[in-house]
Amino acid sequence: MALLQISEPGQSAAPHQHKLAIGIDLGTTNSLVATVKSSMATVLQDEHGHALLPSVVRYMPDNSVVVGHEAQAQQSHDPANTIASVKRFMGRSLKDIANSAHIPYRFVDSADSGKLLQLQTRAGLKTPVEISAEILKTLKARAEKSLGVESGRGELLGAVITVPAYFDDAQRQATKDAARLAGLNVLRLLNEPTAAAVAYGLDNAAEGTFVIYDLGGGTFDVSILKLTKGVFEVLATNGDSALGGDDFDHRIYCWILDKIREGDSHFAPLGEQDTRLLLTKARQAKEWLTDNHEAQIVCRLSNGSLIDVTLSAQQFVALTQQLVIKTLTPTRKAMRDANLTLEDIKGVVLVGGATRMPQVKQAIEDYFKQTPLTNLDPDKVVALGAAIQANALVGNRSDSDLLLLDITPLSLGLETMGGLVEKIIPRNSTLPVARAQDFTTYKDGQTAMSIQVVQGERELVADCRSLAQFELRGIPAMAAGAARIRVTFQVDADGLLSVSAREQTTGIEAHVVVKPSYGLTEDEITHMLKSSFGSAEADKKARMLAEARVNAGAIISAVTIALRHDGNLITAEEKQAIEAEIEALQAISETDNAVVINQGVDKLNHATEAFAAARMNASVSRALSGKNLDSINL
Ligand code: AMP
Repeated sequence: MALLQISEPGQSAAPHQHKLAIGIDLGTTNSLVATVKSSMATVLQDEHGHALLPSVVRYMPDNSVVVGHEAQAQQSHDPANTIASVKRFMGRSLKDIANSAHIPYRFVDSADSGKLLQLQTRAGLKTPVEISAEILKTLKARAEKSLGVESGRGELLGAVITVPAYFDDAQRQATKDAARLAGLNVLRLLNEPTAAAVAYGLDNAAEGTFVIYDLGGGTFDVSILKLTKGVFEVLATNGDSALGGDDFDHRIYCWILDKIREGDSHFAPLGEQDTRLLLTKARQAKEWLTDNHEAQIVCRLSNGSLIDVTLSAQQFVALTQQLVIKTLTPTRKAMRDANLTLEDIKGVVLVGGATRMPQVKQAIEDYFKQTPLTNLDPDKVVALGAAIQANALVGNRSDSDLLLLDITPLSLGLETMGGLVEKIIPRNSTLPVARAQDFTTYKDGQTAMSIQVVQGERELVADCRSLAQFELRGIPAMAAGAARIRVTFQVDADGLLSVSAREQTTGIEAHVVVKPSYGLTEDEITHMLKSSFGSAEADKKARMLAEARVNAGAIISAVTIALRHDGNLITAEEKQAIEAEIEALQAISETDNAVVINQGVDKLNHATEAFAAARMNASVSRALSGKNLDSINL
């Protein structure tokens, strides 16, 4: 398999020529920027000493844009113009957004931007790409200031930006577009788990398989990476897009409410402001309990009543036990998908602030029977890895060529006759990947071919997701099955797909870069995979039936054309017998029985044997007519 070399061998810079590059963790809740200074990866801080930039963008009444802590502070006062967690909307249409009615933004499904959604703000319609670009611009400005770009100490050559491993084409493309809009040169997109592994220097380790367990504020992702000769390969990914540290806060919040109700059974439901206050207190208590045995939660509600409760670490562990267990289900699935046992795992890397909780660490340790790697800050580890990768990509690294590989989450293929899917790149293929396959025409004289690109595990196009469609025109007219069309699928290192079709004799070519108008959620990918496992038997049957029908159609069409041209070579009775078989086959092609259809094909083949021989003789004598025996090479 072709591997992409992504550093620039032999182009390592001399120390005085250090080229400036940054790594950006564009997170759902928080974003960070890091760089490598004096061979050390470091996260860059803003002028107030903050490393984390809340991923919140506010469009102000005076047309300015505020990003980060200041925007976050105003979120509840101006929700429609203060966009948080925009990452969830990248490359998505409205129908992809679950519970959009509960999100305080005014969504607009825009026809003219390829069905991608937009948000109505006081500054006009904004796409998630534009909103993300604001976050990236802020990080870029922070980096330029910190690295001295503004004062002429060098030029920022580019950035590595991280994305979740399960991000599809549309989401990756949207991320790249946002970076470009922010004026950043994207050196490459890098999967978040891969970045975490790089931060831990696992790329320098001996060979092995590693698990990256990422529990953030709202999402859980688990990835399994395999390292071979300095090359990372993502073996499997899984997760839960609705599980994170916030759920732990919520358990504490419910516990506080129960406590209040214990003392006052007529306690009225809380208003929005009190709910927010209690959730903040719950979050603080959760974080406090990471290093302490108990947390005192004290606050006054808007009706004047005082809350004063104490939560022990033990109680907290009991309250959240189910949540911790819940993370192990996707973990087991990923292990199963990658076909691994616990003994195969060489190390476990923790990512995401919520992995600081001791019960989470303990559960991981118990499951994997080894202590996870925790010496890097779990909030910063992805940005640090991205910075190390960026540094290598601009040629500052002399020690090794850094190769990072990812996988395709779903199979990619195209539609063939009968609505069947021919898989070209199987699921879990290592990126970058290119595969070609030859196809041919179905009809005599066919001069065009419609190529539909699909994604999914099922056998029928109708059960997969259509990504794109394009046409190859100008195929020279030939007999059915004679043309050779080579279709090449290529997925680049960023996970973007391009498909080309080339007619081999004339060299005419058509090509499409797939930017699907909307993406799939992780849950949808899981659903598509699950439904393919559950439907394997039914799919096999459907495929056999479709193939039988295609064969029947092809032979009916070929024999009908032959009878039209050469019907005079056989007797009227012979011709009638063949026509009767054609009719019979046409009728049984309508049934759902592949075996009977195949039998009909055999019968028609049998009935045309004498006719085929007569045609062969006729064409030989046509070829020989007018030539003497000596001129024929026998
Ligand atoms: P991230 O999305 O990776 O920034 O993770 C944010 C989540 O980590 C939030 O739910 C935080 O409350 C949680 N978190 C941050 N610090 C701690 C801590 N010391 N103990 C427990 N959870 C924490």
